[in-house]
Amino acid sequence: MRTKRGAAGDRIRRERQGNAVVVGASCAGLMASLALSRAGIDVTLLEKATVFPHAGGAIGGVSEPLLERITGRKRTVRDTTTDTDGQPWFAVYTRLRSAVDDEPHITFRHARVTSVGQDADRAWATTTDGNTYTGDVVIGADGHRSVVRRAVAPDKPDATFAGYVIWLGLADESAIASRHRWPHDTDILYRRNDCLLGYPLPSREGSLTPGTRRIGFAWYDASRNDLMRELGCVRDTVAHHTLAAADVPATTLRELAVEADGLWPALWRDVIHHCLDQRTVIGAPIAEYLPDHLVNGRLALVGDAGHVPTPMTGSGFGMALQDAEVLAEAVADGLDGRDMALALQRYEHARLDSVRATVHSGQRFSRSFAGRAG
Ligand SMILES: Cc1cc2nc3c(=O)[nH]c(=O)nc-3n(C[C@H](O)[C@H](O)[C@H](O)COP(=O)(O)OP(=O)(O)OC[C@H]3O[C@@H](n4cnc5c(N)ncnc54)[C@H](O)[C@@H]3O)c2cc1C
Repeated sequence: MRTKRGAAGDRIRRERQGNAVVVGASCAGLMASLALSRAGIDVTLLEKATVFPHAGGAIGGVSEPLLERITGRKRTVRDTTTDTDGQPWFAVYTRLRSAVDDEPHITFRHARVTSVGQDADRAWATTTDGNTYTGDVVIGADGHRSVVRRAVAPDKPDATFAGYVIWLGLADESAIASRHRWPHDTDILYRRNDCLLGYPLPSREGSLTPGTRRIGFAWYDASRNDLMRELGCVRDTVAHHTLAAADVPATTLRELAVEADGLWPALWRDVIHHCLDQRTVIGAPIAEYLPDHLVNGRLALVGDAGHVPTPMTGSGFGMALQDAEVLAEAVADGLDGRDMALALQRYEHARLDSVRATVHSGQRFSRSFAGRAG
């Protein structure tokens, strides 16, 4: 047995053996790669995107100590007021990515995976540039439109559109009228058929000093599903892609500005108006996926590839982290001479009920929220 524990119960790196191919290098793929590498497994990490947008939402429940635990690195901060539970998505991504870039046992490749396969001994991922990457396992961390899921759950390959869009914006506090007193935590407001989450977030330097922070919002809107379909963001029952800020039609920006005036209190109105004026608002059609499986032989899913709860549950990141840690242990056990398929089954067994329960609870919210606008 190669696992040892330190005095504080921390896992100590195992001897190195085996290799994994991870598809997708956003939060779930980065965390899975770090956990696998820490468990002694070499990783090839494949990512199709070359640029990640700075715009976007926030991840709740991500404290500095948690990030330090996941990355194994302390942040060098000058400002000590960073003890917050919410972080802009991009800040979390950047921390994870830089830990991966520093990890010698993770090889990062820009490549789009088109298919995955397996036999009794190996699994592999094939990319558009004609390469095939082979490992003891292939891990799908390729998000809600996962290619790997097609091989794990061919009878249920697609996440479905939940029936609403979330408009997301982020503004520098200094750009908004200083008369406002911002809440310390997330404000959750329901007006008519809409819902708004507003939250202060640390500055780019990690400071929570009033005046320097960023202020974000997530506006849940079930009245623009036709627009999402017209623009190709939703096709049939599937949420395809987020509407980029530059692609939000000018008429929609104007409509949102008028609606914000009628719905939200002054402090959130000002943030929304600022982001609409700057054209930095993006529209995310929300997807959901309730899994029956997370594993097929040497293929396994983590994060949104495996299960997609509505962001209203605030739990996607935490679920991806737990997936990563449980999966890494399972793969290491599989490499320890035990049956890999059986080891991955244990991963599925450990995670499936819990992730299904979370997706389910989100679906109850979604049905009632999307139904309000109908
Ligand atoms: C609007 C919104 C708000 C959210 N708020 C919260 C929150 O407050 N708290 C929380 O815990 N969670 C939240 N979440 C969920 C959370 O962000 C995700 O669950 C978590 O980050 C895990 O995402 P992921 O890495 O699995 O998927 P993604 O972020 O979708 O990443 C998938 C990656 O795979 C890559 N990829 C896809 N296909 C291929 C391919 N064929 N080949 C190579 N690469 C590929 C993509 O480019 C991408 O980098 C929110 C989600 C949304 C949409």
